[in-house]
Amino acid sequence: MPRVFVVEDETDISGLIRFNLERDGYKVGSAANGEDAIAQLRTFKPDLITLDLMLPSMQGLEVLRHIKGDVATKNVPVIIISAKTAETDKVLGLEMGADDYVLKPFSVKELVSRIKAVLRRTAPAPKKQTFQYKNLQIDFDSVAVKLKGKTVHLSPYEFKILSFLVNNPGRAYSRDEILNNVWKEDAFVMPRTVDVHIRRLRTLIETDSTKPEYIKTVRGFGYIFNPDSTKPSRE
Ligand code: CA
Repeated sequence: MPRVFVVEDETDISGLIRFNLERDGYKVGSAANGEDAIAQLRTFKPDLITLDLMLPSMQGLEVLRHIKGDVATKNVPVIIISAKTAETDKVLGLEMGADDYVLKPFSVKELVSRIKAVLRRTAPAPKKQTFQYKNLQIDFDSVAVKLKGKTVHLSPYEFKILSFLVNNPGRAYSRDEILNNVWKEDAFVMPRTVDVHIRRLRTLIETDSTKPEYIKTVRGFGYIFNPDSTKPSRE
């Protein structure tokens, strides 16, 4: 469910927004001033922020500047809420990267529909779930790997290792990183296990496993998929 963070000093209004969003299944966080908002945003990880521009002490535009200046929040859409009389602030806010605005007084119903519209507009396009590089084809949905069009049967861990490396082509991973990401909390696995699985994986997908073209060894470190990565196409 989407997470919305409400920055609003009037508790009646923020309570009303919270009530309406929670009724629609949203997870809502809130702050009554800018300082508190900034302190909470990194941990709350909102999908959208509504920001009242008229706040005590730190002003709304200053809060917006923080939001847009922090890598953790700069891509989070913001709807600014401003009084009709503060037209300049509204314009400034939009110039500073806010996605939409609502003028006070507003109906909560309207705000909620604006929130939904902005979330729809800014939602990332769903990743297409197939991957192709040279003769290797991976279908993440059906957990199938094909080499030159022929199905290759991988064990679940082999498939997980391959998917993990493929998701970041050109990035070298240490054995420990692969362990932590593929086996996760399974404590009884040694870094050597990674080598064993990679060796078998190579016999299945490489034409010559002594000269691998897909998964290469990074000596003294770990493994890398497609080191001469020219951004393999995700289709
Ligand atoms: Ca206010």
